[in-house]
Amino acid sequence: MALLDRSAWYNIARSTNWTPKYVPESELFPKDQSDPYGIPTAEWETFDEPYKVSYREYVSVQREKDAGAYSVKAALMRSNYYENADPAYLSLLKMHYGAIALSEYAACQSDARMTRFSKAPSMRNMATFGMLDELRHGQIQLYFPHQLVTLDRQFDWAHEAHHTRNWATLAGRHALDDVMMTRDAMTTSLMLNFAFETGLTNVQMIGLSADAANMGDYTFSNLITSIQSDEARHAQIGTPVIEIMIRNGKKAEAQQAVDVAFWRIWRVFALLTGIPMDYWFPLEKRDRSFKEYMHEFVITQFERQLRDVGLERPWYWEHFLDDIETHHHCQQAGIWSWRNTVWWNPTGGLGPAERDWLEQKYPGWNATHGKYWDVIIDNLRNGRPEKTEAVGMPAICNMCQIPISNKGGTVWKARIYQREYEGRRYNFCTLVCRWVFDTDPVRYKDWDTIVDRMYNGQISPPTAENILRYMGSGVVSKGGRDAHDYAWVKGYDRSPQAAE
Ligand code: MN
Ligand code: MN
Repeated sequence: MALLDRSAWYNIARSTNWTPKYVPESELFPKDQSDPYGIPTAEWETFDEPYKVSYREYVSVQREKDAGAYSVKAALMRSNYYENADPAYLSLLKMHYGAIALSEYAACQSDARMTRFSKAPSMRNMATFGMLDELRHGQIQLYFPHQLVTLDRQFDWAHEAHHTRNWATLAGRHALDDVMMTRDAMTTSLMLNFAFETGLTNVQMIGLSADAANMGDYTFSNLITSIQSDEARHAQIGTPVIEIMIRNGKKAEAQQAVDVAFWRIWRVFALLTGIPMDYWFPLEKRDRSFKEYMHEFVITQFERQLRDVGLERPWYWEHFLDDIETHHHCQQAGIWSWRNTVWWNPTGGLGPAERDWLEQKYPGWNATHGKYWDVIIDNLRNGRPEKTEAVGMPAICNMCQIPISNKGGTVWKARIYQREYEGRRYNFCTLVCRWVFDTDPVRYKDWDTIVDRMYNGQISPPTAENILRYMGSGVVSKGGRDAHDYAWVKGYDRSPQAAE
């Protein structure tokens, strides 16, 4: 049977809006799920998705993507790649799968909300495919690490992490619940499709995939490239939404939603991507520094996309540029020091050559972040490894749920930004996290950070052992240790710095 060309029927097939007779429109599309901005219904008929696909085409392309990713995995399973891989690289996989697999699954709900409650029929159509995409991403990222559980129980966290109260999980969930899970269909699209997927996933998928390929892990490299090809398609849902909002006098609202989401996802994302890129990959396998990736794939591209759609750079752009130089370096130091609280084994990874590389990529690294590591390295070289394990808990930001820190050493910038609200004091890591709180205090005010829970009796008594148990550490697998058992400090025995 001859088939019509898609362009001959597509516009008719997706015109599925009708005038409701049995319920009022406000019941079919409740304001708080569909459109709190009050865009006239007729405007939604203008929604024109940049990327058009039919279900038949979608299924056939997705089937091929899956076949590609699964067959690379099957072929490489026989190579014992993971049995022989660098333990710091395996930590990247453990962290990635734990953080990402069930987040993808959760994103099905975000897309489902757009599928049901968007007023534009073509947006509902695109979101249906987005929902199927996220289901695939959830499944494939549970299936791939499953074979690794026999190698190392920490891989079980691919499934486990989101069901625990591990501090890193709480940070990720707080951001994703805010951006993906608790907003109306339009705001979800601005925050998830535009700010998160258009703005930030490229560096993960292009940068991390290049580094993984350099490591010889074609399974993981192909997996994330396959996922990103879906993200690049459904991310485009956000653009027509923003255009419609701007045309209807809602630019300020669109801008604020994008600014909030971009910052929230950035704070988490820098840990997942920045730390492995700049600390865990062996020097000779590093394609570029995290900062170079951020400048090329986020700053340049995202700025252009913002301009094209009619929005401005977020007001906090200077703070963001500064955070690219700072945030993931602080958290590498913090996570390594509190390594028993995470489900992977981070490496310090800071031999003399690695420090030279960091100094070159981030001028001033030695005089700031390096000072922290000087003490650690001195302790390790003098047989005091127990002194490198942090005790107690650091102050945690009431917004991003990440320890509050900044540059130390010769540039002392660590400070807390506070806000009193309804008699409670909130602590923030940056002006920007505090600004996010100020945009909607009612939304955020009742959340307790893991440190709040130590003081308000939820973790009782707040002993080190109890805190770890509360976070789920030790149940499935042991907490983290240095991936290389400190072998990286041996480099100083041969270097001139050893004489100091
Ligand atoms: Mn996805
Ligand atoms: Mn997505």
